[in-house]
Amino acid sequence: MILPSSIQEVNDAAKIEEVVGDFVNLKRRGANYSGLCPFHNEKSPSFNVNPARNIFKCFGCGKAGDPITFVMEHEQVSYPEAVRFLAKKYRIELKETESSDQQRQEQQAIDSLYLINQFAQEYFQTQLFDTDKGRSVGLSYFKQRGFREETIKKFGLGFAQNDMDGLLRAGKQKGYNTDQLKKLGLVTQYDRDFFRERVMFSIHNLTGKVIAFAGRIMAKDPKQPKYINSPETEIYYKSKVLYGIFFAKKAIRQFDECLLVEGYTDVISLHQSGIENVVASSGTALTPDQIRLIKRFTNNIKIIYDGDAAGIKAALRGLDLALSEDMNVRLVLLPDGEDPDSYIQKVGSEAFLTYLKEKGKDIVQFETELLLKEAGDDPTRRAGVLGQIANTISKIKNPLRRDEYVKVTRQVLGVDEGRMIFEVNKLLRRDLEKHQALEGITPPSSDDSFPTEEPGYVSNPVMAEAEMSVGDEFQEKHIAKLLILSGNEWFDQNHNITLAQYIWINIEDIIDYFDHSLYKRIVLLVIDRVNQGLDLSTHYFINHPDNEIRQFASNVMTSPYEYSENWEKKHEVFLNQLKPEENFYLDAAFSVKKLKLHKLKRVINENQSKLSSKGPIDPENENLLRLHMKLKTMHDQLARELRMVVVK
Ligand SMILES: [Zn+2]
Repeated sequence: MILPSSIQEVNDAAKIEEVVGDFVNLKRRGANYSGLCPFHNEKSPSFNVNPARNIFKCFGCGKAGDPITFVMEHEQVSYPEAVRFLAKKYRIELKETESSDQQRQEQQAIDSLYLINQFAQEYFQTQLFDTDKGRSVGLSYFKQRGFREETIKKFGLGFAQNDMDGLLRAGKQKGYNTDQLKKLGLVTQYDRDFFRERVMFSIHNLTGKVIAFAGRIMAKDPKQPKYINSPETEIYYKSKVLYGIFFAKKAIRQFDECLLVEGYTDVISLHQSGIENVVASSGTALTPDQIRLIKRFTNNIKIIYDGDAAGIKAALRGLDLALSEDMNVRLVLLPDGEDPDSYIQKVGSEAFLTYLKEKGKDIVQFETELLLKEAGDDPTRRAGVLGQIANTISKIKNPLRRDEYVKVTRQVLGVDEGRMIFEVNKLLRRDLEKHQALEGITPPSSDDSFPTEEPGYVSNPVMAEAEMSVGDEFQEKHIAKLLILSGNEWFDQNHNITLAQYIWINIEDIIDYFDHSLYKRIVLLVIDRVNQGLDLSTHYFINHPDNEIRQFASNVMTSPYEYSENWEKKHEVFLNQLKPEENFYLDAAFSVKKLKLHKLKRVINENQSKLSSKGPIDPENENLLRLHMKLKTMHDQLARELRMVVVK
């Protein structure tokens, strides 16, 4: 492990403009620099580097962070690898905790697994090109598929002879351990080669190392499976791998889209035709890890599908997760009887791309149409479709996107907007309550964020839509943002309290009512550090071990400053200061009061519902009434103050 003091040293030394400058041609613009973004395809520069804050931000694709983040993203390496990379650049000697003998042995064992797979790939390739059987059976199969020799070599394709133990003998000769050959699934427990008389596909990880193999049968043997695969090992987890990702990652980033196909040969065929942003999942549905892997490079997935309706429904499963990660998922059905491989060979890459563009359908819309078609005229089944689609939409985190989907699908479904919003909100509320139960937060009772009346009562759809964000997300987020950006600043002119202290004093009693665990975590983290007299620099947040906090911090630090809820416009107040961030103390005062008012309303509602459930002579009623009066007074006082702050 690298010692924190060493990481600090690297952080202090690494200058963002120098680190980025090694990869991107930067031009000075005032105090900052700009250039063409290395993470997405663009013609005019929207990639900015800010030396004062030591961060970068792309206004095109939203990527942002510090020097370490940049190296991680650009080189696709882990955190420690990025630290080592920068240490080398700045000639810093890293101090690391000694790894134990056991750790070293484990590392060596893993390294040797990679090494053996590399050997096996070379072995299979030699068999393919340099033996009679390899050429007549294996190579002719690949050539028949239209694969060129350079493609075959690039993807590490090969051939396994119908040989009892050819690979085992060659491996032993090289000095490899038989147990490890078995562990990798190359040799069976009876000391026989596992892959026999098959053409071989190497499976690479993100950095291009061979982690597993798949073999396709050549003999006509109905008793044997068409494809067999390596077993899972420490270096191969099937659910975390996408076939072709190593060769596709650059193009995926460049075109900001990932094409997803089913077969190995589809990937290779498209790649050879110049369409390189393509990968294959090894199952019908995408796994959460595979979705996250794609999301590292793009938010856009296009699934190219060549199956029947039943198969499509299987493929749709697992896509909820992609939606909840705010990814755009589109689906393209190929013409009957075609797969990507056959279709591109038939029409060529240009027509293929045009087809994808024209026929690609948004996944929610696709699902809606598919389900409606299945339901036919049966009214019960059609009602079921509404519920299913509302469920899919409720998985989307971004309220604006949810809103768009509500608009589009309710037209297809032929229901009114209020009804659709009601269904989605019901599910959102259920998810939130589930989430809160897990987090141990008291659920809001009849909170105004969620219209719980019957749809007919949603008299003002615009209002209902505006309230589709979950709970008090907006206010909570804004307070977390203020703490990160200006927590250290003095709140008052006499320098008695800082902004962080001011916020804490005012929200301490409502912190348990926070709806979002990330924002709650940030508030508690800040307070903890303030109480301990520790630093609150932006650096601290952007290097925080919690990935969510790190992401949030780099986003708020690089997005333009905005007031909570556009309160200038809303309350017709116009501020004098030139820079908006100089008004942060007004903003903070407004924001905490606003949030408090929201939470107070909730408590009042809770109390009121208790009150109405008791009879008039219930002795507890008096206490509840007293509490109600007290809360009301607090509420009115706050509302008054809020107006004062605003008009000041
Ligand atoms: Zn970009």
